[in-house]
Amino acid sequence: MDQYENENNECYVCKNQLNKKLVGDMNTNVCLNCRKTKNIFISKTRAKKEYKLDDNNLDNLFSFEVKSVTYGRSQTITLFIEKEVEELSDKIYDGRLEEILEQKQRQKEQRKLAREEKKNVLRNRRREQIEQIFNNNGKQYVDDPIFDLYIEYGFKIPKTKRINGCIDDEEDLENAVDRISNKATRKKSLIAKLKERGLTLRSDSVLCNAYISGGMYKVQEINDDFESVDDIVDKMEEMHFLHKHTNYKNITDTNFENNRKKDYFLRMDKDEILERSKYDAIYQYIKNNGPIDKIPKTLQSEKDRAIYNMKKSEKINDNNKVVKSKKTKIEKSNNIATK
Ligand SMILES: [Zn+2]
Repeated sequence: MDQYENENNECYVCKNQLNKKLVGDMNTNVCLNCRKTKNIFISKTRAKKEYKLDDNNLDNLFSFEVKSVTYGRSQTITLFIEKEVEELSDKIYDGRLEEILEQKQRQKEQRKLAREEKKNVLRNRRREQIEQIFNNNGKQYVDDPIFDLYIEYGFKIPKTKRINGCIDDEEDLENAVDRISNKATRKKSLIAKLKERGLTLRSDSVLCNAYISGGMYKVQEINDDFESVDDIVDKMEEMHFLHKHTNYKNITDTNFENNRKKDYFLRMDKDEILERSKYDAIYQYIKNNGPIDKIPKTLQSEKDRAIYNMKKSEKINDNNKVVKSKKTKIEKSNNIATK
């Protein structure tokens, strides 16, 4: 209500006399007692939302303004008497507000369901479309995040969801099927070859991932010594052996550490250290186990060199048996004694 005629200076709510000395009482036509009582009043925003009323409906009701500070920002809030708002709403909606709100909620849910159903039809259609291309190429459907994105969004993939190789048009779609089916074939053959050597595919292997995603071409971008899948499998076997049967990890760490302590011009480069560590690991392995046949063929030269050096220093005899010299034993006992 724009202007409330208050001839008797009484509180609009409780009809008690207003305190003329209180600015709040006079400005709002509501006594301090009532103003302090919660749940009598409702803000305009809530009145509109909860009782489905608009500015025109509310214009005829008693209201007053208070200042409020929210998040450091001062604003004016218009308050209504909630009882009056409720009565008005009952009058306008003939007491059926709750029913109307429930119905609206039901309609909202139905619309959501319909939208979801429509989306599902599209999803199925896109999935069938991809399967069809696979079929046409005589291949089986292969799951891939690229396809998941197409199935969900079609050619309109949101920027935030995009990944490498997204499908943006029909041509991309054909190419992606081709690329991903080859990818699946490569993965399958690599897994089979690894299995022959008792190995499994490691998801953290840079080489394997390069091969699966782009074939030998991509592997050679990393290291052009690799000529075929067998070279990759050899490498995997070598690393598996070094990590499982030798102290390779610690030896490498120690060698890097020692290298840093050297004068700059005496330092080895990374590849030299790794080569050296392989040799050290194999040397130790033979010293502990004898030159047994388990050592992979890619480490043959390290094995030969280690045996040669061990024979020279008489740590190994002509029958390739490890010799435990007395001197080593004495050294060992000395070490224990000093600890
Ligand atoms: Zn009052």
